[in-house]
Amino acid sequence: MNNFKYLKADTPAAAIAAVADNAASNFVAGGTNLIDLWKYDLTHPDRLVDINGLSELKTITELPDGGLRLGALVSNAATAHHAIVRERYPLLSRAILAGATAQIRNSATNGGNLLQRTRCYYFYDAASPCNKRNPGSGCPAIEGHNRLHAILGYSQKCIAVFPSDMCVALAALEAVVQVAGPDGSREISFSDFHRLPGDHPERDNTLQPNELITSIDLPPTGFAPHHSYLKLRDRNSYAFALVSVATGFELENKTIKRARIALGGVAHQPWRVSAAEDLLVGKAPTAQSFGQAAGIILANAKGFGHNDFKIELARRAIIRNGLMALNPSSQRPGAQPSL
Ligand SMILES: Cc1cc2nc3c(=O)[nH]c(=O)nc-3n(C[C@H](O)[C@H](O)[C@H](O)COP(=O)(O)OP(=O)(O)OC[C@H]3O[C@@H](n4cnc5c(N)ncnc54)[C@H](O)[C@@H]3O)c2cc1C
Repeated sequence: MNNFKYLKADTPAAAIAAVADNAASNFVAGGTNLIDLWKYDLTHPDRLVDINGLSELKTITELPDGGLRLGALVSNAATAHHAIVRERYPLLSRAILAGATAQIRNSATNGGNLLQRTRCYYFYDAASPCNKRNPGSGCPAIEGHNRLHAILGYSQKCIAVFPSDMCVALAALEAVVQVAGPDGSREISFSDFHRLPGDHPERDNTLQPNELITSIDLPPTGFAPHHSYLKLRDRNSYAFALVSVATGFELENKTIKRARIALGGVAHQPWRVSAAEDLLVGKAPTAQSFGQAAGIILANAKGFGHNDFKIELARRAIIRNGLMALNPSSQRPGAQPSL
């Protein structure tokens, strides 16, 4: 029997104060990841702080600079179907809708999505060693079943990948995460939010334990005219990405003026390489250009046996998704361009 204390916070300050003096405290939002982890015996909070009463975190509002603020407690479904998100940030909408199921997206929140944990089989098996769950115990995935695992940014301690779809689009959009803690508020650029495993795979991100995500801010540019999210997986629904790609670009005189490419399912964080995006500037959006960008993105990729196929899969996905971004309506099933 797990005994725990349940508290309901009615202000962000009360929520932060409720976790400040107890390292075994957890916020709970939609509960779709936290409660699973608890049931699998992978986490044991002794204080659960329910943040669902924080109405100020439940709105989507336009920002003075033309951007959009997504409240941390807005559900993934409400975000994906919001009129402004669909019109100006369809890349985000498509990425969210590629994830999980309608029921899960209705409960899952934006803040929780950023903090969901890896789906590594060994992490989810409480009887198995895992440096992420139990630092110093080892990483059986390196020599074991690693079909889902990283080809980039891994370390000798961990080859797990971060499984979110939403966050791949947020990386491409260069979102900013707003957080509040006992010492006030701060913002974290999306590229600094998720960590590589290095020597501390137990730490997924740069959020401090007693900090609350309040919102995720989108910049004014949403790449609506030219965007695409491609998720490749073992089943067409209810499966995490083997490889996913979020692509957005702006065109001027038929050449690329600005480009963003982020990959999911390949590393401990959404993966971007600015040299590849810079290479595309001034080039026509062709299979050859996207192939050159893929070459840069995957230059240091390495498989661990079962996941070797991901390198070629990612290369092809980058090219195909770049061409799909030319004509976003081509993303309907059965209407994809041939290479
Ligand atoms: C069967 C299944 C399939 C799934 N498939 C996919 C998929 O294909 N793609 C995908 O991207 N995701 C998928 N998911 C993951 C799902 O998107 C996440 O579980 C969900 O986004 C987590 O949000 P939540 O509100 O339920 O978080 P919770 O479970 O409530 O919390 C998760 C963590 O975040 C912390 N937290 C929550 N909100 C805040 C906040 N505002 N500030 C600070 N800390 C906070 C909690 O303390 C906890 O540690 C799947 C989940 C399930 C169960």
